[in-house]
Amino acid sequence: MSELIKKDNSYVWHPFTQHFTEGEPLQIVKAKDEFLYDVNEKQYIDANSSWWVNVHGHGNEEIGNALTKQFNAIDHVVFAGVTHPKAVELAERIVQKLPNNFSKVFFSDNGSTAVEVGLKMALQYFYNKGEKRERFLAMEGAYHGDTFGAMSVGQRGYFNEPFEHFFFDVDFIKFPNQTNESELLNGAEELFKSGEFAGLIVEPLIQGSSGMKMYSALFLDQLTTLARKYGVLVIFDEVMTGFGRTGKMFAMDHCKVKPDIVTLSKGLTGGVMALGLTVATEEIYSAFLSPEKTKALLHGHSFTGNPLACAVSCASLDVFEKEQTWDSIARIQSWNERFLNELRSNDKVAEVRMLGTILALEIETGEGNTYFSNIREKAYSYFLDEGILIRPLGNILFINPPYCIQEESHQKLTGAILRFLASL
Ligand SMILES: *Cc1c(COP(=O)(O)O)cnc(C)c1O
Repeated sequence: MSELIKKDNSYVWHPFTQHFTEGEPLQIVKAKDEFLYDVNEKQYIDANSSWWVNVHGHGNEEIGNALTKQFNAIDHVVFAGVTHPKAVELAERIVQKLPNNFSKVFFSDNGSTAVEVGLKMALQYFYNKGEKRERFLAMEGAYHGDTFGAMSVGQRGYFNEPFEHFFFDVDFIKFPNQTNESELLNGAEELFKSGEFAGLIVEPLIQGSSGMKMYSALFLDQLTTLARKYGVLVIFDEVMTGFGRTGKMFAMDHCKVKPDIVTLSKGLTGGVMALGLTVATEEIYSAFLSPEKTKALLHGHSFTGNPLACAVSCASLDVFEKEQTWDSIARIQSWNERFLNELRSNDKVAEVRMLGTILALEIETGEGNTYFSNIREKAYSYFLDEGILIRPLGNILFINPPYCIQEESHQKLTGAILRFLASL
């Protein structure tokens, strides 16, 4: 056992990890482009972009330069009563990239906090207006983060069972499929009619943690329209879908009807720093303006608006302004399409799905889809041996590589997936 592993064992508590049974963690000491390197210089393809965050690949030079430059200008400064150029630049550029109903950007540190802020904005919007609307509608299978508000609007189950009795009440609509959509819309309308709903929160077009489950923009448009009709605020949680993952800058760019609040994180900083944004309409913002201090959004974090995080986010947006980035996204899509067709005829595969740069396949296990499927462990170590870091969700394998991935690496990924399927 290496010194690093010994010390890790002694001092570190890892996320989503059962330390009693889990093997040694990988020791990564270097990262460049789509690759990670361990202590023995073994190379791994970062097939899931390090939990979705690393959109442009590791060690991007432009982002690195922006970080150094910002560090030499201001490293950090309190954000209440103070502003700084990179926060303002980021807010302006994000608002310009979003549909034109959006106008104000609130800063926090990660996806879960961005969601908490969105929920608080929706609740306090009605509170400030003296309207009693306190309920949320969410979707079965949803994942919005691991803080209490975010857990409350997420799928209940083994991930949050110890806390469930502390959650606030939320109504859930079933996941839409071709056969149940009109029934779901009728159900949602009945709920909205009660006048008790403050908000609707969804992961637009694709649910990540529940296994890359996809639904149509048409259904989402219909649901959003209904919420609008009854004065319910619509929150799109674009923490995962934002920044090119779905083939467009945001998932909402596939939709005709736009939300009132959007949450952003993961790909925002190019995977270099922790930052979350909650963006709202002028209508929502204006409900917090009052001579009374208590009508303000009394929320903040020590690192709110961190200049380094804002600077790398701006640099990441610069990278998105290059045609080359969108060409790379389109290339991944076409490689994925080719692979998808190949997988369709594979009898080890129960289903394949793709959206933009995300490709998911459900492995036929005969036991349905569960996070704790033992296929997961088998797949994880198989791919590590092959020089690929990929975290399956139970029997669901998915790839969402950094956009800079080269064709050779993509072929290595798909080749290893085919070999793994054949080994089952
Ligand atoms: C990852 C994720 C979150 C939580 O973000 P963290 O930064 O991990 O707290 C929230 N919503 C969605 C859709 C996510 O994918």
